[in-house]
Amino acid sequence: MELFNDEAWSKLTAAERSKYLRKWFDLIMAHKEELGQLMTLEQGKPLKEAIGEVSYGASFIEFYAEEAKRVYGDIIPATLPDRRLFVLKQPIGVVGAITPWNFPLAMITRKVAPALACGCTVVIKPSELTPLTALAAAELSIQAGIPPGAVNVVMGSAIDIGDALVASPKVRKITFTGSTNVGKKLMAGSAKTVKKVSLELGGNAPCIIFDDADLDVALKGTLATKFRNSGQTCVCANRVLVQEGIFDKFANAFSKAVESMKVGDGFGEGVVQGPLINDAAVNKVETFVQDAISKGAKVLTGGKKHSLGMTFYEPTVISDVKSEMLLSREEIFGPVAPILKFKTEEEAIHMANDTNAGLAAYVFTTSIQRSWRVAEALEYGLVGVNEGLISTEVAPFGGVKQSGLGREGSKYGMDDYLEVRIFQIFFRIYEKIKYICLGNMS
Ligand code: ADP
Repeated sequence: MELFNDEAWSKLTAAERSKYLRKWFDLIMAHKEELGQLMTLEQGKPLKEAIGEVSYGASFIEFYAEEAKRVYGDIIPATLPDRRLFVLKQPIGVVGAITPWNFPLAMITRKVAPALACGCTVVIKPSELTPLTALAAAELSIQAGIPPGAVNVVMGSAIDIGDALVASPKVRKITFTGSTNVGKKLMAGSAKTVKKVSLELGGNAPCIIFDDADLDVALKGTLATKFRNSGQTCVCANRVLVQEGIFDKFANAFSKAVESMKVGDGFGEGVVQGPLINDAAVNKVETFVQDAISKGAKVLTGGKKHSLGMTFYEPTVISDVKSEMLLSREEIFGPVAPILKFKTEEEAIHMANDTNAGLAAYVFTTSIQRSWRVAEALEYGLVGVNEGLISTEVAPFGGVKQSGLGREGSKYGMDDYLEVRIFQIFFRIYEKIKYICLGNMS
């Protein structure tokens, strides 16, 4: 098997690549249950969520199987009469894809599917915490007939593999989802060989609830965005900003709902909150909660390790949180919802934008005017209005400011794997034909 052989795959027709991708999608969907079980075993998320991720992850393969056939070029009017200008899009080459543990399948398919659709080959470096789902997905790609060398998975030291991918001149693009620090290192490293880089980094999502919000919609949306995957997603609400008029009502109803969430083994009946990924994650959450308590915040529910032990943490709501606390400034990545109070719309927008992150934001209001005004003022790549879950294969996902570069999903997700080239063709105009044509016309 020749690794890094991008020739064979890129030389297939788009229709052929599309068929292979579609087959891969079908196989993943046929093994949805087993893949979900594997994911729950190695990552911990509740089985229903894991199976949901399999469908969500597979949807990118289905979408890009279709999109493979739509890599259109352009013809641009040239500036001189005897020139023609053609724009051709071609695969960028070998792609290094470094992925995290929180979505062990979807973060892979979101990168690999558009790369393959464009004709690129991929070297995947999955998280060391969730290698099995990655290997199972790669095995299914082989069963789908995708030729050896097109999809590669490399396991081992993250630093060594990352350095090798970044240093190789053959790797023309790095696509990464993970922490902001590692993303910055990969971006700096990629400068040495001038690679294209896509980064999907940390967020600090504000979830803004205005006095005029529909309380039920706001509760449902905030619970969904905050507690999915036990708070371990980069689009999770990190700060719940609530206007003073609805503050007490919302805080009470929200803490009650959070208190009733069933925590446990992801295979358990009715479990909606699994364990955190490891001890380091629990320690980080504990440090943040203690920091807030020591500075005057109040625990409304939860606030400590769960009695189940191991890496379980109680779903938590903390009130009286201030913007200088760690809970407000850093990405929590755990089942803790800090609530902050605001008075005016301007104050809410200022608080929401007061961060270097710019991935996702959520707004709850029944005013159409306010929806547009606030959504446009928020410096975020994704804004959900009266909506807590906004990620889909048909829309571009990505952050602004230090939350990243590039977009995943939708037609825009293809751009990152394509080079745009032009051909300018100079030809001699056949004067005689021109003359005859004009003659015939007269
Ligand atoms: P998280 O804190 O969410 O685990 P990381 O950025 O540490 O985020 O990890 C995301 C991915 O990046 C994982 O696959 C991990 O192995 C990989 N990784 C971690 N450090 C490096 C590094 N120095 N170079 C390349 N990849 C790395």
